Amino acid sequence: MAVSSYIGRFAPSPTGPLHKGSLLAALASFLDARANDGQWLLRIEDLDPPREVPGAADRILRQLDQHGLHWDGPVLYQSSRLPAYQDALQQLSHRGLLYACDCNRTRLRTLGGCYDGSCRSNKINTAAANPSQSHAVRVQLPNPCSISLDDLIQGSLQFDLNKSGDFILWRRDQLPAYQLACSLDDAYQGISHVIRGSDLLDSTPRQMHLLQCLGIKIPQYAHIPVLSNAQGEKLSKQNHAPALNLHKAQANLLDCLELLGFSGPPELSKASIPQVLTWAIEHWQLNKIPPRDRVTESDKA
Ligand code: GLU
Repeated sequence: MAVSSYIGRFAPSPTGPLHKGSLLAALASFLDARANDGQWLLRIEDLDPPREVPGAADRILRQLDQHGLHWDGPVLYQSSRLPAYQDALQQLSHRGLLYACDCNRTRLRTLGGCYDGSCRSNKINTAAANPSQSHAVRVQLPNPCSISLDDLIQGSLQFDLNKSGDFILWRRDQLPAYQLACSLDDAYQGISHVIRGSDLLDSTPRQMHLLQCLGIKIPQYAHIPVLSNAQGEKLSKQNHAPALNLHKAQANLLDCLELLGFSGPPELSKASIPQVLTWAIEHWQLNKIPPRDRVTESDKA
């Protein structure tokens, strides 16, 4: 029997417990992996201690478990991968692609989201790529820098990375930036399919660019709509999205399935969690997911 080469993942940040919006991404990535006989890996993106909530990582693992979303293999914690991120930084600096940026917040704010490259002359040589100084490290983009993405849900998209400019790989507070850690770890874990929320669509071309620079194979991407509240804001800790009610795990799953465009037969409402997931795996089709950037509870089928 042919072994599937599909490897998917869910990569939550431990900034709080999962809410319905994060369950949507977990479920979509789980179902796509299982429907393709693939593995589903779990990565905890714990690289931002100031934003982390003590105990949140363990709580997320329990929440996934209670929703029947069982991952394969050990959990990867990004905090254990710092040497790999530093290595990649060294490689990029050897190629003359990095520079130190000491622009302060006030200056960056006046630029309105498009970095103007004003620090480009502060090239970082290999020795200084050791990120122990109080500047941020940016990657210099070529001009033009146009990235084409064939998103499995949102279709063909074209991005001009110069519209937002050179981006940060290592933060001024000496932490690796999300773009660097995420793209390296997708490669390290052998991820073939990244299924995640459309709020990360802007990050995808940056991650593709980094993988290209490092000569690493780019995975396939699919961006699902994010769950928004009635005011159109993405559900998040900032707007007080409630943690998942674990007494309603089965109903939470059915709700998320409906939001993704899958409504089952009436009997499913009385089915067990494993039965719901088995039904969902059998009926799963990425092209049924609405190619939109957001959904709200009122969009349920
Ligand atoms: N850790 C990110 C978050 O929780 C998601 C990363 C990803 O799926 O690429 O928003």
